[in-house]
Amino acid sequence: MTTIAERLELVRERLRRVVESAGRADAEVRLVAVSKTQPADAIRAAYAAGQRDFGENYVQELQTKAEALADLPEIRWHMLGHLQRNKARQVVRHAALVHSVDSAELASELGKRWRALPGFDPAQRLGCLIEVNIAGEAQKSGVAVAGVDRVARGIEAVPELRLAGLMCIPPFAAEPEASRPHFEALARLSAELGGPERLPELSMGMSGDYEVAVRSGSTLVRVGTAIFGQRPLAKVSSVEPA
Ligand SMILES: *Cc1c(COP(=O)(O)O)cnc(C)c1O
Repeated sequence: MTTIAERLELVRERLRRVVESAGRADAEVRLVAVSKTQPADAIRAAYAAGQRDFGENYVQELQTKAEALADLPEIRWHMLGHLQRNKARQVVRHAALVHSVDSAELASELGKRWRALPGFDPAQRLGCLIEVNIAGEAQKSGVAVAGVDRVARGIEAVPELRLAGLMCIPPFAAEPEASRPHFEALARLSAELGGPERLPELSMGMSGDYEVAVRSGSTLVRVGTAIFGQRPLAKVSSVEPA
């Protein structure tokens, strides 16, 4: 058995190598450890090994963990999952960056809830990425390519928000190279819509394909199982070990 610290170091090492071979700088690519369904202790282990950015998919789980781990002063939470407007209030309390904005209406609600937080500071805008349904998959969440500029303008119209970039989850594939055309399409879309000036971040790449994503221009890789191991099926199991 390898430990979380060991797997984390392995991912960092592979990231360093691909960043270098792509002719990019280490500071251009941030590792988000996707901790959904993992227990708080697993997050503590990664934090102790120097990890600061963590990603969650479900609002309730984000809230529970953010409260349980409030003693970790430098932790930053990323909201990755599909988000309903009626959950915006809980999200803005905890998330440093929302990767899954998919409508101008959601943006407006996030801005309103962010402004209503106790201690709201107008200089601190909430960073928002637009989730793009890059392969036009029928059942997938995210904005169709043709609608991305409209949502971008929606975010830019909310003074409490900062348009941070684009995010995608390509179709599942066993072969990492299968993701490349989708990552390149997201990078092209970003360039067409204004490039890094307007859309500084590209959130793309998971455990199976983060190296391909870095070569395609990713600035935020979202890695879960390669750091934490297989996700426990705690949500559906009634016989989970203590
Ligand atoms: C679960 C998830 C990840 C991490 O997936 P792994 O394959 O475990 O690395 C990344 N991004 C999103 C949006 C996810 O839901």
